[in-house]
This record gives sequence, structure tokens and C-alpha cells, in this order.
Amino acid sequence: MDCLFCKIINREIPGDIVYEDDDVLAFNDINPQAPTHVLIIPKQHIATLNDLTESDQALIGRMTHTAASLAKEKGFADDGYRVVMNCNEKGGQTVYHIHMHLMGGRGFTWPAG
Ligand code: C5P
Repeated sequence: MDCLFCKIINREIPGDIVYEDDDVLAFNDINPQAPTHVLIIPKQHIATLNDLTESDQALIGRMTHTAASLAKEKGFADDGYRVVMNCNEKGGQTVYHIHMHLMGGRGFTWPAG
């Protein structure tokens, strides 16, 4: 499958991996928008949030828990951080393998641009 993030999972292209388990992989974003910018992805290929099924609920929970654990590990959990998932073109999605952006180490404004 011609998916960039599947290739990172399969070690066909390099990724700066910070966490891995049987279901989830996390790696530093190649173009960071904050001092810490980690992408958390499922190992299972799911193109967009619209493709989630009921059986994927635990997987999304694991991704969210991974984000919170990494925020604690990196020391900005108490200060605050942002977790974002973009869906399709108007949502700003550019890679069609779902991913959670964990960004921390600076302040964020709302609404997002
Ligand atoms: O949410 P969106 O699809 O726009 O995010 C894709 C993210 O994947 C971007 O933040 C981009 O910098 C990152 N990326 C990466 N490594 C690649 C290609 C894209 O970290 N090889």
C-alpha cells in the first residue's frame, strides 16, 4: 500500500520513533509546529476519521492515552498542550492514515486557524 505512515510503521522509510506497542506508533513530526510535536498513529491503516468503525473505539482510546502519557513524560502535562486530528481537505488533512498531533512546550490560541 502506498501510504507514507504505513511505510514508517514497516521501517521502509525512517521515522524518529518515540513510542511503540502492538497497536500504536508515535514519532516526531518532520515539520514541528511546537517544541514537541509528536504524531500518534494506529498500526492498522485507517485513512480518515470517517472510516472508523465501532470496533476501533478502543484503538482511539489507546492513541489518546498514549498522547497523555507522552505529555506527562515530556513534562508539559500540567502546563497544558494540544491534541488535534484533522479530517479531509477542509480539516487540513494531508496524510491519509489517521494521526493524532500532540503539541506541547508553548501556548496555543483558540479557535485554531
Ligand atoms: O494533519 P495532517 O495530515 O496535515 O498532518 C500530517 C503531518 O505529517 C504534518 O504535520 C507533517 O509535517 C507530517 N509528516 C511527517 N513525516 C512525513 C510526512 C509528513 O511527520 N514524512
